[in-house]
Amino acid sequence: MAIMTSSTTFQPVLERIAEEIERTPGRGRPADYIPALAARDPRRFGMAVADLDGTVYGVGDWREPFSAQSLTKVFTLALDLAREGDALWEHVGREPSGNPFNSLVQLEYENGIPRNPFINAGALVVTDRLHTRTGDASGELLSFLRTESGNPDLTFDEEVAASESAHGDRNAALGHFMASYGNIDNPVPTLLDQYFRQCSVTVSCADLALATSFLARHGIRADGTRLLTRSQAKQINAIMLTCGTYDAAGDFAYRVGLPGKSGVGGGIIAVVPGRCTLCVWSPGLDERGNSVAGVAALDRFTTLTGLSVF
Ligand code: GLN
Repeated sequence: MAIMTSSTTFQPVLERIAEEIERTPGRGRPADYIPALAARDPRRFGMAVADLDGTVYGVGDWREPFSAQSLTKVFTLALDLAREGDALWEHVGREPSGNPFNSLVQLEYENGIPRNPFINAGALVVTDRLHTRTGDASGELLSFLRTESGNPDLTFDEEVAASESAHGDRNAALGHFMASYGNIDNPVPTLLDQYFRQCSVTVSCADLALATSFLARHGIRADGTRLLTRSQAKQINAIMLTCGTYDAAGDFAYRVGLPGKSGVGGGIIAVVPGRCTLCVWSPGLDERGNSVAGVAALDRFTTLTGLSVF
């Protein structure tokens, strides 16, 4: 396939990728540590690409709602960074962790300051700070996603939130541990409630491709107003590239070559700055918590189109 120009439609390449994925055996396993997610069929697959003008191309289950989980960490980071700017970086770092997303081990060595905003500890800090600034971090997130996707029906999945809360000992441990270092402002149960609701937002590939577009537009929202400075948008894209897929971020950069963020619901969002955004969903995960078919599809997309940051 030829390298894509700005006027190319994405539909043929999406259809080719879906056919290839359909023929590929081995899809990984849905996350089962959150019981409400365990029942999803790993053969499901959807992919959407949003152009900067809001045109969305899609294939497979691209309109099927799924659990956003850690994909929401990109949006809470953007919403908090827009409010407090660089002061955030006194509370959370910007380096890859090289550890699983829910790991506790680095936190004690590093005095309760998480390595980056995309591992669970770092996301808890960001949600805590956004909650302090807005009084309702998860509500702020939901409202942003609804506006940017143009889908007013987006909502939390209370069953998924309750399921995660009932099995949330590790996130609770992270929250309490960081609170002991003074790095959490709100009562930990309040923070966990906000975080589990945040993660439970139910979205489709189409919704998320659109909602992520502000990162491809260098910080500009769908209505033309600015959420982030151009520099802040670059910063978030850079952290997605280096930290967005946890201890697989090196391999993701090698294979896909785009800023990306995964979630244990099986979604991955990715950004081609200045060009388009992508969201792919397939619930089967590898052992690092990234969608197997999702990474494979993004790998094929950048290979076939030549669209990558490198
Ligand atoms: N809600 C999940 C958790 O905290 C999010 C993890 C993820 O999507 N990687 O464990």
